Amino acid sequence: MEFTYSMPVKVIFGEKAVAKNASEFKALGHRALIVTGKSSADKNGSLADVVKALELCGMEYSRYRDVEPNPSVENVRDAADKARSCGADCIIGIGGGSPLDAAKAAAILAANDIDDDTLFSGNFPARPLPVAAVPTTAGTGSEVTPYSILTYRKINNKKSVGSPSIFPVMALLDPVYTHTLGIDATINTAIDALSHAMESFLAVRATPAIKPAAFESMRLIAGTFAGLREHKLPTPEEREELLYASMLAGTCIAQTGTTAVHSMGYMLTYYRDIDHGRANGLVMQGFLRFLEKRTPKVREVLSVMSLGSTDEFGAVMDSLLGPKETLSDDEIRLFTGTVMTSKNIANTAPQPSAQDIEDIIRFSFRK
Ligand code: NAP
Ligand code: ZN
Repeated sequence: MEFTYSMPVKVIFGEKAVAKNASEFKALGHRALIVTGKSSADKNGSLADVVKALELCGMEYSRYRDVEPNPSVENVRDAADKARSCGADCIIGIGGGSPLDAAKAAAILAANDIDDDTLFSGNFPARPLPVAAVPTTAGTGSEVTPYSILTYRKINNKKSVGSPSIFPVMALLDPVYTHTLGIDATINTAIDALSHAMESFLAVRATPAIKPAAFESMRLIAGTFAGLREHKLPTPEEREELLYASMLAGTCIAQTGTTAVHSMGYMLTYYRDIDHGRANGLVMQGFLRFLEKRTPKVREVLSVMSLGSTDEFGAVMDSLLGPKETLSDDEIRLFTGTVMTSKNIANTAPQPSAQDIEDIIRFSFRK
């Protein structure tokens, strides 16, 4: 056996995680920029808890609240300008994956006056500001990953910044913050976390060390599907399991990266504004169908979710996702061509051809 495993994030999980561990923020710096989306952090209690903790620590803070879903390079540059103008020496991201990713990118750009190519290279002249992450969705696992996924209009796609230097210093996870998520956001983010766990296990870069977390994550998420299929919001216990499972899945992709599912998903989000988790969910059955003839690992994935076949998995996804969007032939060709240029293709085992990707997309959007 041979592998590398790196998880430098201090994870603090549980109800009132922020209030109970307020003094932890002191280690970050003296003046924080709090990075959030428009309003959810004001409503779910997370922002108030963090502000109170900073005040207890005697830290100063400013807020940037303009993070858009799927943040663009322009958006995170704007957040970094704010960090510089207020003299921030640390960043606290509160929200779903979008504010957490924006916080990481702002931490890089506040410390480095660099062009887009250097940003995406993952090599920065100066160390990014330290980041703390407070997730309020149970999906991306961004609180424990070294990635910031940005909308990059120059290439008409989403693109990942990856560097060990943007692992958050700490992540504080309180499941109560996720209680305000509606049914669609709950389903989409749960599917995103499931895709992380599944893809990490199926990736070329998979290692034995990620398997226990990936399987526990898939098992827990699949356990919530019976209720979600009937559009019942999760119980507090299930909310806790979903947040735990999404964090576990994040620790897995932090080691392995993602695969063709995410590349296909980015196209659906960029061109059709389909939510990130939903976009992955739409192509997952097709992806598993492609792989099942080629690797015994698909059986293991189905079995941990107590499912017998990829058709059964597809039926679960269909009932969770509802009516599907339609794609034109031109879109399918464009998406296939772009997906084939992504580095995730080389991380998919076995590697799909352009025809395979086109077949997966066609199958996923069949009428
Ligand atoms: P999101 O884009 O962060 O948020 C989507 C919506 O949910 C926003 O309108 C947000 O409102 C709202 N929201 C957030 N928390 C809420 C809560 N507790 N209650 C009610 N509404 C809430 O969604 P996401 O799915 O978590 O993140 C998706 C992004 O993460 C994508 O850009 C994706 O590429 C990225 N991602 C990153 C990684 C990584 O490793 N870095 C992994 C997977 C995905 P506000 O705008 O008002 O806050
Ligand atoms: Zn994802």
